[in-house]
Amino acid sequence: MLVDRKCRALAGLGKYPYMCRFNEHLCVENVCARSPRRPSVGSMEPGIAFRCVAHLCVAHLNVAQKLEMGPMPSKSQPATRHIISINDLSDKDIETVFDTAQAFLDELPDPRVPYRIGRSAKIASNSILASLFYEPSTRTRLSFESAMLRLGGEVITSADPATSSAAKGESLADSVRVIANYADIMVIRHPRDGAVRLAAEYSPIPVINGGDGSHEHPTQTLCDLFLLKKKNKRIKNLKVAISGDLRGSRTIHSFVYALARFGATIMPMAAKGMELPDHVDRRLREEFGCEMVSAKKGKGDDSSLDALYVTPQEPHQQSLFSGPEIESNIGILDRKIDALYVTRFQKERWTDKNQAYPTIDRKFLKEPKYSEASVMHALPRVGELDPAIDKDRRAVYFEQAAYGVPIRMALIALLLNLKGKSLHRFEGGFERRPSPIYDQPRNVGASCANKNCIVHDQMESQYVRNKFYVLKTSAPNACRLRCFYCESDIEQFVVASKKNKWFSNDHTALLRADDQHPREHIVFPNKEAAIEAGFHSRRGMVAPGTPPRTRRRAKS
Ligand SMILES: [Zn+2]
Repeated sequence: MLVDRKCRALAGLGKYPYMCRFNEHLCVENVCARSPRRPSVGSMEPGIAFRCVAHLCVAHLNVAQKLEMGPMPSKSQPATRHIISINDLSDKDIETVFDTAQAFLDELPDPRVPYRIGRSAKIASNSILASLFYEPSTRTRLSFESAMLRLGGEVITSADPATSSAAKGESLADSVRVIANYADIMVIRHPRDGAVRLAAEYSPIPVINGGDGSHEHPTQTLCDLFLLKKKNKRIKNLKVAISGDLRGSRTIHSFVYALARFGATIMPMAAKGMELPDHVDRRLREEFGCEMVSAKKGKGDDSSLDALYVTPQEPHQQSLFSGPEIESNIGILDRKIDALYVTRFQKERWTDKNQAYPTIDRKFLKEPKYSEASVMHALPRVGELDPAIDKDRRAVYFEQAAYGVPIRMALIALLLNLKGKSLHRFEGGFERRPSPIYDQPRNVGASCANKNCIVHDQMESQYVRNKFYVLKTSAPNACRLRCFYCESDIEQFVVASKKNKWFSNDHTALLRADDQHPREHIVFPNKEAAIEAGFHSRRGMVAPGTPPRTRRRAKS
């Protein structure tokens, strides 16, 4: 990174990384070429100013920041940090978000309500948040905007899709690049799964996912985890029941991943036909190590509970939320429930809008196993949670909603480096095995099977690609493709070689690619599609289970 070295040398900061006033960046390009807001000398703290030789803009480094800085981030770390999935945050990141949120609650308290932010700061007085909501939202949008205003920043908003540029036919990828010129950070909600990941690919400023289709809603999950931590002093070894529409609720998808990461036991209590999607279920079991355990229905138990996910205690869970060891997983079936998470029927994502749906009321909560359960809900409720229990000591959903402000203040402050701390320096994301990425143009080969994925949005067709993580499975010749945007999986496909013009149902060619980007291969949903595209079946097509040596001979 020549430009970066030049800048650092010019500033006489040989051993410190370059840093702009608003954020940390790996190279000058991210500050000067793309950032519309160049720091002005007059408003700076006393510190070190230097001029970029490539772009002739001035950047500053104050002494406090200089002393706190660690080593240069690794090349693999993105220059701009986005929060799209809860799994984009490492355990350490989540701990930092919670510490920062708690610091705001302590510094800016409302004397009457202990969980409410009651005053404002000025630390974001030079920053602007853009909120882009392509789908109706009141709570998420207002809590983000409130968080930015409480930090002393400004907010610009595009809340009505009917009047936004999308209605005029502008793509999300273009909108993001234009709006990045008006703001320092943006929050996006979109009806398409994976839309915010696409937006982040095109954004030079930090993007936060405010909910994308039925994919994820990571900031809601942070509020939920923060509440669980406040109420129980731990998350490890908690028993959390989740009731309602587990299929359409993005909040639940982010939430169960987080619970599994931190060693909680999850009791799915889905409404009929609204179970967790297969890909979420599979990830829980295969990637987070959850085991399905059958739960016997107790006497008088009228719930639809059939099974629960028990997460094994693993070393990575020990560091966060450490608290008293209650007991091991043995006996968890008989334990009382620590929290009951109620979710609404996501009518907007279902065609049959008159399905039977469970209601949580006083009678339901009379069961002894719920006697100590915090009743949580992301709100709004639409009839599944009886208002008669609002005054019950177990009802914590308004407190849960209040934490939306300090949590989002913390995220904004960390992404903009307003508190001398940032998420950049931490190693990014939940630990996962590095996977090759299959990447082909949108019109080549198989696309994501999820019809609500952003890949299928005509407006974005110039900007999306058929992009998948290639994941190895336990079957001998099989891989799984996970959509880069919406993270849903494809299991059934054939792999064609561009070079040899053959196709095969042996998936492992995708994993063998040396450069980690198997561009030499095209994936088709089935052999008919491969033949139609001019490929022929490989002679001696390999049956699943054939040892690799035999396969190589068949190829030659
Ligand atoms: Zn997808």
